[in-house]
Amino acid sequence: MLCPCGSTLLFNACCQLYITQQQQPSTAEQLMRSRFSAYATKNGQYIFATYGAAQQLKQSLGEIQAWADECLWLALKIHASSKNTVEFSAYYVVDNTLWELREKSNFTVEENQWRYLDGDITEHNQIKKIKRNELCPCNQYATAWSAKKGKKFKQCCAKSQVRSF
Ligand SMILES: [Zn+2]
Ligand SMILES: [Zn+2]
Repeated sequence: MLCPCGSTLLFNACCQLYITQQQQPSTAEQLMRSRFSAYATKNGQYIFATYGAAQQLKQSLGEIQAWADECLWLALKIHASSKNTVEFSAYYVVDNTLWELREKSNFTVEENQWRYLDGDITEHNQIKKIKRNELCPCNQYATAWSAKKGKKFKQCCAKSQVRSF
């Protein structure tokens, strides 16, 4: 399968290497991408583990997992990145509604590993309600990992949602 982060690489040659700890992300953007891929593949443990130590104290693994499970993560678009920041939009579906979450995230290095600190959500837009018989919204995102061209929502992302790895 394609990597959810939109790199156009296979998952097992991209973010899965980080999620399974075979490699460490070497940039903030790589960590950000791998966290999106972890959401997409319902890996709450990785999302939790890649928060900074102080942030982990304020997080609940159960809540992270529930949020990852509830949403269908369609696509990621990176707008800008610097050494310690990444600005991105994540497109996801929950309750048959397509959302864009745009965030500027801050990252740091702790114990030689990139960690997520926090982020400013600059936009959180409800794009539209999706009917099961309409063209799947993933068709409009070039980087959508689960896209099946020309398929209806019910035959595409609504169906192919990855449960867990
Ligand atoms: Zn990736
Ligand atoms: Zn789709």
